[in-house]
Amino acid sequence: ENLAEDLDELARTLDRDHVFHSWSAQSQLSSLVVASGRGCRVWDHAGREYLDFSSQLVNVNIGHQHPAVVQAIREQAELITTIAPSTVNLARGEAAKRIIGHAPSGFHKVFFTNGGADANENAIRMARLHTGRDKILSTYRSYHGNTGAAIVSTGDWRRIPNEFARGHVHFFGPYLYRSEFWATTPEEESERALHHLRRVIEAEGPSSIAAVLLETVPGTAGIMLPPPGYLAGVRELCDQHGILLILDEVMAGFGRTGRWFAFDGYDVRPDLITFAKGVNSGYVPVGGVVISDPIAATFDDRVFPGGLTYSGHPLAMASIVAALDAMESEGVVENARVIGETEIGPALVELAERHEVIGEVRGEGVFWAVELVADRETREPLPAAAMGRIKSGLVARGLLPFIQDNRIHVVPPCVVTVEDVAQAMPIYDEVLSTALEGEG
Ligand code: PLP
Repeated sequence: ENLAEDLDELARTLDRDHVFHSWSAQSQLSSLVVASGRGCRVWDHAGREYLDFSSQLVNVNIGHQHPAVVQAIREQAELITTIAPSTVNLARGEAAKRIIGHAPSGFHKVFFTNGGADANENAIRMARLHTGRDKILSTYRSYHGNTGAAIVSTGDWRRIPNEFARGHVHFFGPYLYRSEFWATTPEEESERALHHLRRVIEAEGPSSIAAVLLETVPGTAGIMLPPPGYLAGVRELCDQHGILLILDEVMAGFGRTGRWFAFDGYDVRPDLITFAKGVNSGYVPVGGVVISDPIAATFDDRVFPGGLTYSGHPLAMASIVAALDAMESEGVVENARVIGETEIGPALVELAERHEVIGEVRGEGVFWAVELVADRETREPLPAAAMGRIKSGLVARGLLPFIQDNRIHVVPPCVVTVEDVAQAMPIYDEVLSTALEGEG
């Protein structure tokens, strides 16, 4: 047992000494060690258990260490672990076919990337080359990844120190709880957000705009389900002006909303779909672009000026095939839908009835945001210090949370069970009581 504690300590020391972490001041890092996992749980070396209600970065949709996916990676590793992207490989074709199987009609090609950022990067490139136009419109409340065009498409603060790519314009999407449009109903919010987008398009010059890039359900920005008619309205605006619609399904796709693609729940048809995360639950880094026929045809006789050494990496491809097959045969997406409707949603609504600090609960499937406020009337966000105490309170009680700004995102793997939810809810409940004690 001492040996195990030593391993946790060694992991922390090596990390502090040599690992440079994402989005962090390097003197202020997490000390949580994760050494192993299974399903919705992870452990450190000493065996301390954590219920993973973050799915890490909202990507482990099938749960940790699904045996069929691990086995598929192992088998592929025995055959060939890496190949050039220009070669033909059976696992790659099988993976692409399965992804196409979940896409709408009129999509037959997949371009594989290393993750979600470069999926958006390449979708933007395709849109620009296909339309011969330059500008990309995306929302302020968005995250699209940490590379050239993807980070400048991103709306949140992470864009600002990285604004080196040109041709990006931002607008406000719908967010009724904090409406930019003085709306009081979802219908009003939808109508006014569409009016705003129409004005931005007109003011930017429609013939200069290649694409509108949207997260179908904005994820990191707060899990805002699009109000009735919004996505259909965006499609209509795009059609009126020959603008392409790119839907970023990196976080929302492959089961998170209780559907294969989040846009399956709306009257909208994208021209390009970007994906990553849930497609193989991140067991091997991968992402990609699902390409509609007219855009694919642009590159039948014209060279596509883009590529990656690891495009269609065999270990990633084998893991996609196994993950999607297992999700299909085990009803994982259906589980996410049902558990959201019958367990997570109702439990969070009940939590909100008991805790004044909860301003709003919203979401579906295993994709929920709990918005915490200092005051229900003014909706002033709960300050960062209180959010920090909530985060450490949850971790101390064995729950891995996803905390973003003033929100707790309740985003367990799609395989989460009734028992897991029943274990998690009293932890949220207790921490919301104790972490805020002594505050007005
Ligand atoms: N798009 C969305 C909606 C995301 O949530 C993310 C990551 O969180 C990305 C793109 C970027 O993906 P990656 O980190 O794999 O590059």
